[in-house]
Formats: sequence, C-alpha cells, structure tokens
Amino acid sequence: MDIANKKISIIGAVRSGVAAAKLAKRLGAFPFVSDQSDYEKISDYLFQLEEQKIPYEYGNHTDKIFDCDFIITSPGVPSDSKILLEARKRKILIISEIEFASWYCKGKIIAITGTNGKTTTTTLMAHVLNSCGVKTYLAGNIGFAFSEIADKVLETEFVALEVSSFQLDFINEFKPNYAMLLNITPDHLDRYLNEYSFYKAAKYRIAENQTEDDFFIVNKDSKDIELIKINTKARWFYFSLQDEELNGSYLCDGKIKFHRNTTSTIVDVKDLILKGEHNYQNVMAVVIAAKLIGIEDERIKIALMNFKGVEHRLESVRTLDGVEYINDSKATNVDSVWFALRSFNQPIHLILGGKDKGNDYSQIKDEVKQRVKRIYAIGSSKEKVKDFFEEVTETEMFDSLESAVKSAQRKALEGEIVLLSPACASFDMFNNYEHRGGVFKKIVSSL
Ligand code: ADP
Repeated sequence: MDIANKKISIIGAVRSGVAAAKLAKRLGAFPFVSDQSDYEKISDYLFQLEEQKIPYEYGNHTDKIFDCDFIITSPGVPSDSKILLEARKRKILIISEIEFASWYCKGKIIAITGTNGKTTTTTLMAHVLNSCGVKTYLAGNIGFAFSEIADKVLETEFVALEVSSFQLDFINEFKPNYAMLLNITPDHLDRYLNEYSFYKAAKYRIAENQTEDDFFIVNKDSKDIELIKINTKARWFYFSLQDEELNGSYLCDGKIKFHRNTTSTIVDVKDLILKGEHNYQNVMAVVIAAKLIGIEDERIKIALMNFKGVEHRLESVRTLDGVEYINDSKATNVDSVWFALRSFNQPIHLILGGKDKGNDYSQIKDEVKQRVKRIYAIGSSKEKVKDFFEEVTETEMFDSLESAVKSAQRKALEGEIVLLSPACASFDMFNNYEHRGGVFKKIVSSL
C-alpha cells in the first residue's frame, strides 16, 4: 500500500503508536499522533515524536484527528471509546497497528493469540527459530513493536508476533503465514460489552484472511474454542494433552510428539525447564510451527530444553531453607492460577488477590483444596478471597505483600512452595504486574 503524502492519524502515543508514526513517516506519509494522557506520563514518547518532527497532541483528543485518510489505533484504546465511535460515524477507516505494519512486512509472520500464554509462546517461538539459525524477530507486546521492524524484515526471515484480541478488532487484510490460537477463557470482557461471544469472535479473526498456503494451529483441548465458528482456508494443525489421533502435536507418556504422515518424538517433558501442562501446550504449538518450517527434531529439542521461561511467569526466584519461592505475578486471571497450581506436586502457600476483574474462584476450588496448604490474601480483593476460600483451606488476610511473604516464610516447611499467583490485576497496590513481581523478588531476596 502506497501511503506517500497520505494523512494518517494515530491514536495512542506510547510504544506501538509511536512506532507506527515513525513507520508512516519513513514511508512518506504525514502522521499526526493524539493521546489523552498527561504530558508527564508519556513525555519519553512525545520526545521521540519531536525528534522526528511528527506533530502530536496530548491531554485530550481533538477534531484534528478526523482530518486524515485513515486512523491507526493502538491496542490500549478501547474499541468503544468516544473517539473511535465518532470516527466510525464519520466513516473514517480505522485499522490496528499490526494491520498497518503487516502491509510492509515481506518476511513470514507467525501470529500468536489466546487468553493466556501469548508472551511465553511468542518468546519461545523466536527462541527456537533463532537457536536453529532461522532469523526471527520477537514482536508485538514484547520485543519490538511490529511497526518498528516490519519494513526491515527480509523475505527469508520470520516475525514471531504476539497479538491481542484488541489488535484483531481492527484488522482488514492481516494475514499471518502461521496463526496460533492457544486457548480462550473469559477475560477482558469489559471491552466486549460483557459478551463472551464477541471476545471469542475477535480471537477467531486471527485466521480469517489466511489462504491454503498458510497454517492454522489450534488447541484441541480448549472447551471454549468453537472450531466450527472459525472461518479460514488455512491448513489446520492441532495440539492436545489428551488426544493422540491428530495432525499436529500431542503429549504421550510424558513425551511431546509430532504427527504428520509419520510420527516423531520431539522431547521428554522431564527435560524442559518450563513447568506445567499449560507450558506443554505452549511448547506443542511451537513444535508444530517449527516442524512445518522444516527444522530437524534434534535441533528443536535442544532449543526447547534451553528455554528458561519468561520473567514473572512461574519464575523460580530462590530456594531458602528448602522452600522454593515462585513469582507468577503475570497470573492476572483465574485460569492461569489453575494451571500454576497444577504445575507443582508439593504443598503450596498461595499469595492471592489484587484488583479483582470479577473473578469466579469456584474454577480453582478443587485445585486449592488438593494442593494449597494456606492462602495469603492481599489487595483490594482480600475480603472476597477470604470469604470464598476460608471454607476450603486456611486463609488469612494481609495488608502488604511483604507481610504475606514473611508469614509464608514462617509457615512453609522444607519441600514446600511459596507461590505468588494473584489471579488479579495489580493496579490497587502496584503500577503493573512487573512492578508487583519485582517487589516480590526483592522481598524474597531479602529474607
Ligand atoms: P499472555 O501474554 O497471554 O498474558 P503469558 O505468557 O504472559 O501470557 O502468561 C500469563 C500467565 O498465564 C502466567 O501466569 C503464565 O504462567 C500463564 N500461562 C502461560 N501459558 C498458559 C497457557 N497456555 N494456558 C494457561 N495459562 C498460561
């Protein structure tokens, strides 16, 4: 798409918005960036725009936005925000940053979506391909913003791209060569008029523009993914922890296998640093793509075995007096806690709570009953956590993360686990989940 001399308005002046503005400028267009935030909050990004002589506004969106050929929206901007509704009313084309960047990407795109596991799987995908000599950019919410690198990727190179449902809300032609749908559970429903089906439909769009030359990789175990509703011409490959009769990857006798005409054994899960069934699913999705790309089994295996995981996702912090401390601060919904609990055989001291997004704790009641010795409830949801779990296991409320960790240190016995896996957002006590995980690690290191 030739955008030379076109006027493009970009909503959101942080990472991906600024990258899109710079890409538009490189391509000879006239970008204009608008953000509602105060200057202090986004000053680093505004500085980058100034350096590039890209005009912008902050503190408020004005009608200046509508003086454009089309709008690029950043993933953080709600689809039902006033500014986008008005743009729609005025019949202005709105696209997401990944759609825009994808127009200029000559390399192969591996797009990864799902409610949970996107960052882990995208990072693992890039790690495996790069370790095997296939140059792959890590992009999306982690690594580079897609617009930062899209026009630099060579035809022989790959982009492992983390894609959220918000980005899929505004695609037209986005067509990954490989699309992965890891799982779907209710989350972010506030952005979808509380309609689960809208959220799912957004996720399904990852494959809608794929052709017969492309591949669609999907979780066969996820009960909420309605395969029948997915509209794609791509070739389907499945992964499953249970089903061994499929084209794709599955777990059998503790080994991850791949089947397409013939079957090969890729790796024994005992040899992985990544723990837990959820991570085996992530690994299987990556195995399928790596095999389809043509990487040899042995090289895939070695790369998988070297992967240490991603910070704040079941990250082992320290073992002290025989007690292992695990930072799973990124577990911001109940489903990821369910998987976290199932990742350990030892008794667990679970630090739970924060800003509740309407959690239904009954989903993890059985796992808590079987595996959790004590719950340490923190944050604005601590009363809700206590009310729900005090019948199930010993539960106590704490005013700070530090007092919870210190209490867990006193209670935990040799061979047990202290796990921060909050099931909640962090904004009641921390800036974000990274901040929460960082504070946890600091406290644990000082014990
Ligand atoms: P996302 O980028 O989709 O938020 P992450 O890889 O950052 O996913 O992981 C978020 C949380 O979900 C972590 O607590 C992690 O341990 C857990 N998790 C990772 N993969 C999966 C999966 N396939 N299914 C369920 N939970 C997962």
